Amino acid sequence: MYAEIQSGMAALKGAIELVQAGRGVIDQAAMSNALYEIQQRLLETQSAALRISEENSVLVERVRDLESAAKKLADWEVEAAKYERTNVAHGVYAYTEKGREGALIDAIKMCANCFGDQSISILQAQHAEMRQRALMCLKCKSRLVFRSYSDQT
Ligand SMILES: [Zn+2]
Repeated sequence: MYAEIQSGMAALKGAIELVQAGRGVIDQAAMSNALYEIQQRLLETQSAALRISEENSVLVERVRDLESAAKKLADWEVEAAKYERTNVAHGVYAYTEKGREGALIDAIKMCANCFGDQSISILQAQHAEMRQRALMCLKCKSRLVFRSYSDQT
């Protein structure tokens, strides 16, 4: 863009010098060439300005996307701070509300897999074979099977 503007200014300066050098007597062919040069530089400048405008639009959209992603991340961090990873059974983890009281069997448990994807999904209790317990995530279909909660004796 700056190169096009400088080129256009040089062409304009050349035309001015041509007029000044003529002092009343203007060479029509030289003046026509100078005006043609100015016109060409103006077209190049317009083309460069249009290209820069398009690039600016892309950058504005990119900034908007990044601002949206930053807000989403900040919102998630506020939401995630309400929960903590909990060992609900031997080797089985889920997220529960911080400051939770009472037995794990009664607590609302969130899927650790979905939590890692910045999503809250409540685990649903299911029947399991062989006197085991199962928790199912209806969102990602994770199924956690274990014998007893870590706070059960
Ligand atoms: Zn899940």
